[in-house]
Amino acid sequence: MTVRQIVYSDNPLIRKKSHRVRQVDAGVQRLIDDMVETMREADGIGLAAIQVGVPYRLVVVEMPPEVAEGEELPPRPWELYVVVNPELARKSREMEEGVEGCLSVPGWVGEVVRHKSVTIKGLDRRGRKVRIKAEGLLARVFQHEIDHCDGILFTDHIEDPEKIWPVEEGTEEAAEARQGVRA
Ligand code: ZN
Repeated sequence: MTVRQIVYSDNPLIRKKSHRVRQVDAGVQRLIDDMVETMREADGIGLAAIQVGVPYRLVVVEMPPEVAEGEELPPRPWELYVVVNPELARKSREMEEGVEGCLSVPGWVGEVVRHKSVTIKGLDRRGRKVRIKAEGLLARVFQHEIDHCDGILFTDHIEDPEKIWPVEEGTEEAAEARQGVRA
């Protein structure tokens, strides 16, 4: 497994709309392994393939299975989710605001309104169909990652400048922000 270089928001590649994966072959499986390694190295809880420069609809998420928004994350091991060609099969009418950060937008966090619960469908790392019901923070991370597949960043959802603010790495505020999405 190799840690890959993360693509930042100043690189136009991050705005590219990713295309569907036709076949979950050995190359895709290697990419998945590298993405998991890269996400862990960056202390993130989610990563989309475009964030390592590959325009495939493919996301990895790793977090505790049940965490309320704003709650501190327990130590690893967490649950790993790999979804190829992810789609939102269902989304709740109920919305919820929560703090997000992004590995491609370092130094910034903001409050984003997302569906409170969603069902994600797609393929797993062996190409089998999967369906994941997600609520709260897990639902938020998946919505954030699926956005990446369409070239959308969390900052695009924020209109009010009061709802986005810089954080300095190593500060208490940054540690707090880490309890939100870093994905
Ligand atoms: Zn992100």
